[in-house]
Amino acid sequence: MFDFNEDKPKEECGVFGIYSPDQEVARLTYYGLYALQHRGQESAGIAVSDGHHIDLHKGMGLVSEVFSDCIVESLKGKMAIGHVRYSTTGSSLVANAQPLVVHYQKGMMALAHNGNLTNAVELREELGKNGAVFQTTIDSEVIINLITRYRRESIEDALVKTMLDLRGAYALVILAEDKLFGLRDPHGVRPLCIGRIGERYCLASESCALDTIGAEFIRDVEPGEIVVIDEEGLHTFMGLTKTERASCAFEYIYFARPDSTIDQLNVAESRRRMGIELARECPIDADLVIAVPDSGTASALGYATALGIPFGEGLIKNRYVGRTFIQPTQAMREVGVRLKLNANTSVLKDKRVVMIDDSIVRGTTSCKLVEMVKKAGAKEVHFLISSPPVAHPCYYGIDTAEREKLIANQLDIEGIRKFIGADSLHYISEEGLLRALDTHAVCLACFNGRYPITISNLDGGKNNFETRYSCG
Ligand code: SF4
Repeated sequence: MFDFNEDKPKEECGVFGIYSPDQEVARLTYYGLYALQHRGQESAGIAVSDGHHIDLHKGMGLVSEVFSDCIVESLKGKMAIGHVRYSTTGSSLVANAQPLVVHYQKGMMALAHNGNLTNAVELREELGKNGAVFQTTIDSEVIINLITRYRRESIEDALVKTMLDLRGAYALVILAEDKLFGLRDPHGVRPLCIGRIGERYCLASESCALDTIGAEFIRDVEPGEIVVIDEEGLHTFMGLTKTERASCAFEYIYFARPDSTIDQLNVAESRRRMGIELARECPIDADLVIAVPDSGTASALGYATALGIPFGEGLIKNRYVGRTFIQPTQAMREVGVRLKLNANTSVLKDKRVVMIDDSIVRGTTSCKLVEMVKKAGAKEVHFLISSPPVAHPCYYGIDTAEREKLIANQLDIEGIRKFIGADSLHYISEEGLLRALDTHAVCLACFNGRYPITISNLDGGKNNFETRYSCG
């Protein structure tokens, strides 16, 4: 069965944390996770602490499926963390859902992680040799294990020592010893920001979660920074010296919600600028600009405005298709495609169309879209992409499909154009993308193969870790 979502990179997690003794922290975390649902749909969890004891509820499914009003009501405490997760097939187990909660010599601790460690195998082997036992197949458990082992002096020292051992991408929220902590890796690959709600503070992967709960955005957590939130308010210190910043460019291109602002740049605005760059690089004499909704929309509007070409809703997205529905038979394959997106004939008929999408991963989706728009009567379909070709896998927390399944790893641009059946195909250049993001401090490894953080197992990354330690 063809699935549009199969042909998109997958974000792996979203995290949220709040310290607010006077408020219903579980309920606010629930709403925060709701706003972050696009970052992971396979499991969700909330851990709540009164400063001594931690209560946890987690399960498989969407936030709305995992939590009932009754469950949220039962989670009482003064601080909470939450997590939404996407996982690859085989590792989609409730044991791997987060937050992770452990008992250790100083009490209880809960941790939620967005990102992927690149030295998790070595760390886990080392911990294993020293007698550590593991209950999950996720790299996040290595982090919590290290923190508890280093906790001979203060918790702050343990966090710094743990950061010295970790390599890779991590945005962490942690409940320990009457405090909420937020940590971001020294490259700042995955986002994490700070909000204020009344006199109290919270943390979230994206600012849209702060907006949702009525919190005011304060700032992004700096790469290498440790944020401490407790009864005294907010304090921060550097856990590690900031190294070369390498925020994930794909957060802007596709993953993050357009209403979020990450590292001072609004996501919708960055996408609009990508459209303007595409117009500069590839102006096409066309009658109509359309977007592949929703992540292509802001770029398409930027492109259309820059060239003075009308923008139209040529593809309509069905917003009510859930993750699962009765799969059409092979004979009804097209129904499956049109369930999710349908071409608007009255907009497209007899038009020379520029269609803008955020990325091409395997190419199967793009083929279907071009075919659909042509069937609806478009005379020409020119396909413009607001990312450079995705030719390398991500090892920092995004599931981009294996190298051999990436179409840009197999074919040149002309080969891809022929495969998808477009009249022309253009990808934004790396320079154009950097201009749109107004920075060079981004990771572009899945486009150019230059990985900003060393990777121990180039053939594996996250999947290798989970496969290696999975007994199922
Ligand atoms: S490799 Fe690509 S998806 Fe992964 S962090 Fe870098 S830019 Fe983001």
